Amino acid sequence: MSNRKHAIVIGASMGGLLAARALADFFEQVTLIERDAFPPMGENRKGVPQGRHLHVLLLRGSKILEEMFPGLIADLMARGAPFLDRPEKELIWFDGGGYHARFTNEDGRLGALAVSRPLLEGYVRQRLLALPNVRAIEQCDALGLVPSERVSRVRGVRLLRRAEGSAEEVLEADLVVDAGGRGSRAPKWLAEMGYAPPQEEQVTINVGYSTRLYRRRPEHLNGAKVALITPQPPHLKRGGVILAQEGERWIVGLVGNLGDYPPADEAGFLAFAQSLAAPEVYNVIKDAEPLSDIVTYRFKASLRRHYERLSSFPEGFLVFGDAICSFNPIYGQGMSVAAMEALDLQQALRQGTEQLWWRFFRRAARSIDMPWQIVVSGDLRFPEAEGRRTASIRFINAYMARLHRTAHHDPVVARAFNDVASLLAPPQSLMRPGILWRVLRG
Ligand SMILES: Cc1cc2nc3c(=O)[nH]c(=O)nc-3n(C[C@H](O)[C@H](O)[C@H](O)COP(=O)(O)OP(=O)(O)OC[C@H]3O[C@@H](n4cnc5c(N)ncnc54)[C@H](O)[C@@H]3O)c2cc1C
Repeated sequence: MSNRKHAIVIGASMGGLLAARALADFFEQVTLIERDAFPPMGENRKGVPQGRHLHVLLLRGSKILEEMFPGLIADLMARGAPFLDRPEKELIWFDGGGYHARFTNEDGRLGALAVSRPLLEGYVRQRLLALPNVRAIEQCDALGLVPSERVSRVRGVRLLRRAEGSAEEVLEADLVVDAGGRGSRAPKWLAEMGYAPPQEEQVTINVGYSTRLYRRRPEHLNGAKVALITPQPPHLKRGGVILAQEGERWIVGLVGNLGDYPPADEAGFLAFAQSLAAPEVYNVIKDAEPLSDIVTYRFKASLRRHYERLSSFPEGFLVFGDAICSFNPIYGQGMSVAAMEALDLQQALRQGTEQLWWRFFRRAARSIDMPWQIVVSGDLRFPEAEGRRTASIRFINAYMARLHRTAHHDPVVARAFNDVASLLAPPQSLMRPGILWRVLRG
């Protein structure tokens, strides 16, 4: 076990926390390095500006989180987070020009938490740091990697604490995981060690978010806990989501693709909500009590770094979460994919630590393929979106338009689509004979 003494994780956002949870079962000591100070549970922090915006925890993600932190769902419900397990009453989904047919949870597989991002992150951080072999160094920047003499291995991290008068330090480790987010410096650090950086793939979508919290009243949405009004390609670039949160609140996220950004002033926010393809969001917020300012966020492009294609890579180093792939956020996938990668990391570690990078990146790439396919084919339905339109993407998009029309009246197809969007089933499951037949029959 000599090469499993100490692991370092750079970044203590959802990706870093989940990587650390996976590593805690395999290493004697795990240290998280985070440049922010940790705020009280439920509060936002600077390093995660997206935390102020709507975060959907997909079913796949919530199931993995519950496995990693048993009791998480019950604890967060006790803190007021709504639980959605009766989709026929609680979920309104407008997509492809109509409402999806309501379906039930008869097999008991559905059941997701509607929890704010800061509460979820704060709770996971608290549970993780309660493990005896996990610690965190807050207000500390990871400056770079420390290579071994022959540069074939990473043997630690150079750090600088933010406290005044601090000097650069080296923290040694058997494994360093970079979960520093989309702005990860791993490609630069690899180049400094003489390794090739990964190929990058992008789909430009220029999406803007405007978000506001409102007080939730029982009569809103006839008791439903979420309404999703998706953009309607190729022409209507706007969408909106209203999602119940702890504290009897709604979080309302308005989104606009390809530069059709939702505004940040009250009148503009209401007008944008009113212009959506369905009225649910506007009907609630037109006379609900706002509980926050309107905050905005801009996201240029989904970005995937193909670490799995590299033929050489230093031992003792991995990249994780958004640092590998950052998805157009309107599909709500990032945290759930990080959770899937945490399982991939555990699987890869079961076969030892040598060549870990090779096993982990291949597994993670398989986890990323499915959500990436959903994002790429979804975004490329807009003629202005930049990216490679293969014949298979054109075929998938023609099929999906037809599938949505069928989902408007067929609960079996609506449920099958929900399972794919929740990352419970692969996109190919929408082509299985039982669904294909229903879609072709229309
Ligand atoms: C607007 C928006 C909405 C989103 N909505 C959803 C959603 O609905 N559902 C969903 O699942 N996902 C959503 N996401 C994605 C989700 O936020 C991320 O996938 C998730 O946070 C995991 O990312 P990460 O931890 O890998 O990186 P990040 O969240 O970016 O965190 C990186 C962390 O590393 C720290 N750090 C970086 N560099 C250093 C360094 N050198 N030294 C020390 N610390 C460092 C940062 O301070 C930060 O804490 C959304 C994203 C955006 C932008």
